[in-house]
Parts: sequence; C-alpha cells; structure tokens
Amino acid sequence: MRVLLAGGAGYVGTHTAISLLEAGHEPVMLDDLSNTSSVVIDRIAEITGARVPLVVGDAADDEVVEGAFDAHGPFDAIVHFAAYKAVGESVAQPLSYYANNLDTTYALLRVGLVRGIRSFVFSSTGTVYSDPADLPFTEEATRNLVALSNPYSKSKLMNEQVLTDVQAAHPELNVTLLRYFNPVGAHASGLVGEDPKGTPNNLMPFVARVAVGALDEVGIFGDDYDTPDGTGQRDYIHVVDLAEGHVKALENAAPGTTAYNLGTGNPVSVRELVASFERAVGRELPKSVKPRRAGDLAATYCTPAKAEAELGWRATRTIDDMTRDVWNWQQKNPGGYEG
Ligand code: UDP
Repeated sequence: MRVLLAGGAGYVGTHTAISLLEAGHEPVMLDDLSNTSSVVIDRIAEITGARVPLVVGDAADDEVVEGAFDAHGPFDAIVHFAAYKAVGESVAQPLSYYANNLDTTYALLRVGLVRGIRSFVFSSTGTVYSDPADLPFTEEATRNLVALSNPYSKSKLMNEQVLTDVQAAHPELNVTLLRYFNPVGAHASGLVGEDPKGTPNNLMPFVARVAVGALDEVGIFGDDYDTPDGTGQRDYIHVVDLAEGHVKALENAAPGTTAYNLGTGNPVSVRELVASFERAVGRELPKSVKPRRAGDLAATYCTPAKAEAELGWRATRTIDDMTRDVWNWQQKNPGGYEG
C-alpha cells in the first residue's frame, strides 16, 4: 500500500513509517518540519535501509498536497498526523489550534477525494473522553464537545465529526479514527524518538531530561488523587505499539467511519512511571510533590478490546520497555535530532 503520511516526520509518524516499511508498504511524508527535523529520514534509512520521500510543506495548503500527489502518488491512503498537540498552549492560542488542526483535514480530504484515495486514518486522542464515570473508556463513552476542557481536544473531536460527515457523503472512502492514549517510548535502536522543543510539558520526556541532568527534579503534580498511590494514572502506550496499530488500521480499514482506542488498558501512576525510569537508569531521580496541575483528570485509561477484535492489534510492550527505550534514546541524543 502506498501511503501519504501528513505530519509524518513527527514523533508518531516517524515510528509509523518504520512499521509500514517493515510490513512491506510504501510511506511518503509530507511535513512542514515546524516541530521536527529532516534528520529523521537519515535515521529511518539507517534502521530500515529505505529512504522515505519527504515533501516539505504545509498540509493545510491544497497546492502543497496536490504537489505531493503529483510527485509521489497515486496513494491508496492518507494518515493525518499533522496537528498542533500541546494542551496548555491550545488554551492560550485557540485560534491557531482550530485553524491548523481543521484546515489540514479539509485540504487533505479535498485533494484526497479527487485523487481517489480509499482510506483516511486520523490521529485522534483519548482526551475526547471526559467523564471519569465512564472509566475504562470504551469507544462509546459519552462524548460531549462542551464538556472538553481545552481547544486541542475539541479540535480533535470536531475533526472526528467532519470526517464522519464527509465519509457519509463519500461511501467509497473508509475512515478510521485512532484515539491515542499516552504515547511514550522510542524505537529500540535509539535512533528515533520524541524530540520536544524547549522544556517538555509531558511527564515521560520531562523525567528523561531530569535523568540526563538537563533539568533539576521531577515535579509530581498532586499525590492526593483518588487513585491507589494518590498520583495521576494514565494509559501509557509504547510508540512502536501505536505505530503497529496504524499499520493494522490501514490493512483492515472497514467501510464507514470506525473509531478505535489505542492504549494498553493498564493504568500507570506518576510514581510507578518514575520508579520504572529509575530502574532503567539504575539510580534514584530527584523528585518532589507539587500542587495538582489545572485541568488534569485523576485517571484516564481505555478498553482496547475493539482494536484487538477488529484489527487484530494489541499493545505488547510494558512500562519497563517504554522507560528503557526512552532512556536509550535520551542518552544517545541528549540534544535531540539537531543536538
Ligand atoms: N505529570 C507530573 N509531572 C510533570 C508532568 C506531568 O506529575 O512534570 C503528571 C500529570 O499530572 C498526569 C501525568 O503525569 O497525571 C501525565 O501527564 P502528561 O502531561 O504526560 O499527559 P496528560 O496529562 O496529557 O495525559
């Protein structure tokens, strides 16, 4: 299958390109490189022996998308990763989040439909669920745009609605909505991984920077939640498991619009994640309890049973695999791709 990966040079897209190559498919990347580096192409070549074609440009621009089809098409499918993804930033910059995260979808759909793609896979998020009463989240958990706490999550749910309506009008197109839980980890080679710009907001890259000595200590945001150890629980998923989920979604795309949770189903607390990282590093890390972070839920985790039943996919990597691979990546690339 020939697949256009929009936003494909980012964290999840890079790992998906590797998994697609390993499964015998032909990925092509379209990326504006605003939050990543073209170095990923060299790294993927080192791992797989294949150079993935990269079109540098904005996936929200119809002419750019047409150019990618002209140069490297026809494509059987589009996977749409191209989006802004920082929850806190989305509260401060709602207009750029709504504009970018929706305009990319419109342009990819406009061009993709004319050029005859059969399948569209969308990077959605487990943050489209909002009610702790629904835990563990199934794909049917009540979803209400107004209940969502930030423009990032709302832009993802709005995208899901746009895609559902467009699919209904174009029954020849299969749409798959992949709701990611908390992607962490890195390729086992240590050649590709997560490379956030500036101080990371997310827990795993933050802990990695503390472990490498670039940051002083891990702040644990609240230890008085109603969870087993009082710290927040999340459904962390190894990015290579997540990447393999995209391959399965492309290979098993069903008619209509279908949503799948991609998570492990196992809640892991902040303290458990830090303890796992400490095992990987072989020493204790400096840490202290801080106030809760505004807007955080005590726990989020899913039921991944639908993806297993319908796609034949299941996450197999443990939290210790995730922290070991992040530590390996962080040690080999202390300054990220450009460092
Ligand atoms: N967290 C923390 N310290 C940090 C960053 C995050 O204790 O420096 C906690 C946060 O409160 C949540 C969990 O770690 O319980 C995961 O946070 P992250 O931002 O990685 O993911 P999200 O909250 O978006 O699911």
